[in-house]
Amino acid sequence: MSDDSLTSIRTAWTTTLEEPSVLQRRLSEQRLQNDQLRLLGSAIHVAGEGIAILTPAVEAIGPRVAFVNQGFCHMYGRTREEIIGQPAIIFGVVERQQAMVTALLHHVFEKRPFNAEMTAARKDGTEFELELHMVPIEDAGEVTHWVAFLRDVTDMKSQTVRLRHQAMHDGLTDLPNRAMLLEHLDKSISQARDQGATVALLLMDLDRFKEVNDTFGHQFGDILLQQVAFRLSNQVGETDMAARIGGDEFAVVLPQPPDSTAVARLARNILSTLEQPFLIEGQALEVGASIGIAMYPSHGTDSRTLLRRADVAMYTAKQAQSGYSFHREDGERQTADQLSLVVQMRSALERNEFEPFYQPKIHMRSGLMTRAEVLLRWHHPQRGLVTPAVFVPIAERTGLIRAMTDWLFERTMAQLRAWHDAGAPIHVAVNISAKSLLDQTLPAKIDELLTRWQLDARFLKIEITESSIMADPSHALAIMSMLQSLGVRLSIDDFGTGYSSLVHLRELPIDEIKIDKSFVGGMTKSEADATIVRTMIELAHNLGKQVCAEGVEDEATWHMLEEMGCDLAQGYFMSKPKNAPDLMEWLVANSWGLKLKPKAK
Ligand code: C2E
Ligand code: CA
Ligand code: CA
Repeated sequence: MSDDSLTSIRTAWTTTLEEPSVLQRRLSEQRLQNDQLRLLGSAIHVAGEGIAILTPAVEAIGPRVAFVNQGFCHMYGRTREEIIGQPAIIFGVVERQQAMVTALLHHVFEKRPFNAEMTAARKDGTEFELELHMVPIEDAGEVTHWVAFLRDVTDMKSQTVRLRHQAMHDGLTDLPNRAMLLEHLDKSISQARDQGATVALLLMDLDRFKEVNDTFGHQFGDILLQQVAFRLSNQVGETDMAARIGGDEFAVVLPQPPDSTAVARLARNILSTLEQPFLIEGQALEVGASIGIAMYPSHGTDSRTLLRRADVAMYTAKQAQSGYSFHREDGERQTADQLSLVVQMRSALERNEFEPFYQPKIHMRSGLMTRAEVLLRWHHPQRGLVTPAVFVPIAERTGLIRAMTDWLFERTMAQLRAWHDAGAPIHVAVNISAKSLLDQTLPAKIDELLTRWQLDARFLKIEITESSIMADPSHALAIMSMLQSLGVRLSIDDFGTGYSSLVHLRELPIDEIKIDKSFVGGMTKSEADATIVRTMIELAHNLGKQVCAEGVEDEATWHMLEEMGCDLAQGYFMSKPKNAPDLMEWLVANSWGLKLKPKAK
């Protein structure tokens, strides 16, 4: 309280001759009020937000700043002297948002409160997001002042932006997620509808991602997904959207592609960039992908239908190994068929619908059947005999392959035991798929079976296709070495169809090379095929491996192979695959058959 006011109160007291006690009370009330005002003043002064008091607007001149607190000065990087007396322009709204200033003045002249968010600039030109509230202070119906509350909401806003980004993007790859893809797809469809244009939706799924994850771990898988995302986004144009919509599923939306040829070209480009090996932690890894395509409006007029159809087309592409595929009417029926097969397959094992068939492998020099290959058959209650070419890929995809392989090994061991007990020391070869090759428990399982059935490991052979070895050579090598150390024999199947180098062939612990039937079938007619077969036989022999030719369908082929020095032959010319009782009959009756010794007792 100033000395002046004290003096005036004292004067009033002496001149009005009031009761001393009344005077004292009034004095302390006034002191209290003044204290409160001072407190309020300093609170406003140190408040975190910016507070300004402005004069009312007079005619064309807007309000002028009469008071600002520290928060305000701090917010703009200006001193109080630079601000006091200035028009409201001092709020520093950026040039591009001048419409905001006009709106503000409008409100002020109409004596209405004003709330807005805008971008403002500090003295040094840096920008921030400003939240502004202006309220008029009235006294007896007249606006005497305006109070402005200002807040720097840059952080909060960027957080909101970040949250929205998070909600619409995939955390691992930073690509748009499923929600954003759908939003974009809907928007593209409605634009295309207005303009009579088209939209293409591509769905892509990596071919062996689960195996990569299971074998090398999730961290490795994550890096792979990031690299796939990177390559994918480099393939799509500015107006296209690439998104990650699930584990190893990606999608691309092409608004208004010129035609389906352009869409197919993009699909091929995407597939070919993914064909280049991925280098992760010093490992070169190859992953294929399958792409399904659905187009608006020919394949569907809403995003849900397009998604479903692209999904089916993707499945078709995977089945046909065609890389990419457009939606086709019959595709959906095919998928329904496949789905019912999946369901039926689960119970087929329990219902004993599978039966191992055996196809003889003939030792060419002696003409005896010393070996057989197990080829699985499914006796489907409605469809009849279903071939492994149909059910093995489904079993692989659904994970049923593991139970199926376990079951087959058990049955094979039982059969071997029975044949050996009958005095026929036949060797049996079992096919294992790429998936089973990645099953690290396989060697231990086989070891346990051999012990339980009291079988010598050298009677069991495992056929592994060249392509499943090449899918991951180092891993295959590890499992194969474990199998070899058990004494199990190994054979490389469909040789010539993959791309293994001779170096690999030398390193692999294999005993036998099976020349693919595509070469054998044509060797009597095509000189090139004959040369390939001859070269493979020589190569195998130089490496100390045995050679088996598969798909021998006639006598001419047999003789040609015999002349080339091939060790073993297998094919319809000698025998089709047969079930165990039929094979026994064939053995006894046929001159290809191994001479049965009387059962040793
Ligand atoms: P693969 O291992 O190359 O088996 C040889 C295939 O060629 C068999 O077909 C057999 O029936 C057929 N074949 C045999 N001789 C001839 C011939 O002279 N001419 C012609 N054109 N074909 C002949 P299948 O039994 O349909 O098996 C197809 C494939 O399915 C097999 O090819 C094998 O990779 C796989 N497979 C069969 N059984 C199993 C199994 O139990 N597990 C796994 N994982 N795969 C299996
Ligand atoms: Ca085979
Ligand atoms: Ca084969």
